[in-house]
Amino acid sequence: MLKGDGRLGHDLDPQDRAPQDACGVFGVWATGEDVSKLTYYGLYALQHRGQESAGIAVSEGDRILVYKDMGLVAQVFDESVLSTLRGHIAVGHCRYSTTGSSVWENAQPTLCSTAGGGLALAHNGNLINTAALAERLPPGATRSTSDTEILTALLANDANDRERSVEDAAAELLPQVKGAYSLVFMNEKTLYAARDPQGIRPLVLGRLEQGWVVASETAALDIVGAAFVREIEPGELLTIDERGVRARRFAPAEPKGCLFEYVYLARPDTTIAGRGVQSTRVEIGRRLAREHPVDADLVIPTPESGTPAAIGYAEASGIPYGQGLVKNSYVGRTFIQPSQTIRQLGIRLKLNPLREVIAGKRLVVVDDSIVRGNTQRAIVRMLREAGAAEVHVRISSPPVSWPCFYGIDFATRAELIAGSLSVEQIRDSLGADSLGYISLAELTAATTIPAGRLCRACFDGSYPIPIEEDSLGKYLLERVDA
Ligand code: SF4
Repeated sequence: MLKGDGRLGHDLDPQDRAPQDACGVFGVWATGEDVSKLTYYGLYALQHRGQESAGIAVSEGDRILVYKDMGLVAQVFDESVLSTLRGHIAVGHCRYSTTGSSVWENAQPTLCSTAGGGLALAHNGNLINTAALAERLPPGATRSTSDTEILTALLANDANDRERSVEDAAAELLPQVKGAYSLVFMNEKTLYAARDPQGIRPLVLGRLEQGWVVASETAALDIVGAAFVREIEPGELLTIDERGVRARRFAPAEPKGCLFEYVYLARPDTTIAGRGVQSTRVEIGRRLAREHPVDADLVIPTPESGTPAAIGYAEASGIPYGQGLVKNSYVGRTFIQPSQTIRQLGIRLKLNPLREVIAGKRLVVVDDSIVRGNTQRAIVRMLREAGAAEVHVRISSPPVSWPCFYGIDFATRAELIAGSLSVEQIRDSLGADSLGYISLAELTAATTIPAGRLCRACFDGSYPIPIEEDSLGKYLLERVDA
């Protein structure tokens, strides 16, 4: 049963969700600033990373207050709530969660008490040794099985029992934590940030006039007027207080940044490794055009995520670029349940074709990725109904054939269309005249990051952090080369 819970439009079609990122994180330490409002706007800029719940923890030096709820950032917080969240330190979180009925309990930041007070933590990523970590907790320490709750409880417990500082407890605990984690956490007086040794999920440091900001993406620094300082390094722990920022390494860096951030997850106005995501995506489109040329009259994107690659494709191919599909941006951002009649319209809830642009044309349609294929199938059908003479689908990522264990909820391998079908079979299933995916080599080259410094596991099945066989799921071992 679908809930009108404010999620984005693709959730209106439960058969075909886009890849879901598992969260955006934001932290701020600043005197003389309204830190809860800064965090609100920071989360607003990170809303694309998680639309299911949002939360902010704040401290003015003596105690931590947390407010969190289900929904979009703008639905969870209003002026009166924010005015009660006063202090000079805050951490915030927006989440996409796969859990069903107990989703509120999984909203973050999580809060645990320590001997010295409290500890609030927000996490982007996914841990892969949660069960082993949970065994280290004393019985009854937490009832949750959420990886973030367990991490918070362990950290609080370590800081508690041995009367150590949170910083020392984190530096000792984090090397034992396996998986993807970009963390922001705080006690009453100090803000902390840490990134896993592979740096799978992004995390950046910014500077305010009177303080510091940590965020998942540079776009969240821009919105609060913070200057970009640097990326937090893989395996690094930052401690931020009135003495400034202190960096400490808890593990050697083995960088394996997520390649999918470049394709789809990050905002186009974010910068990763010194290069704007928008220009990387345009370059991917150019390379896609050279790998998969076709005779056509018009290049159109699947809005919005296909737009930069479509621009690049048009540029390199010489085929004119145009807008053939109009997106209904606000569909799904409502608490009103769609009626059965409306829901049956499927893709038309989100996209409407511009018939006068499309009719009689040979089209190249550029999209960022294919997960299950239902959306692309519906788009091809819609374009043909609108009079397109030919529909050629071009995809700015290689086939997604493997699940992600590091924080992106694609689907199981059985649900991934490229997990079992060849490219020709997928073309046939979509009803397209031709189908071309960019190769992994060309996609990697477009990022300018060496292949050895990227996680590319959902494309090639090579997981940079070994996955316990138990967590592989029954489909992972049934590899079918597409
Ligand atoms: S498996 Fe794919 S989505 Fe997951 S971290 Fe690696 S590249 Fe990113």
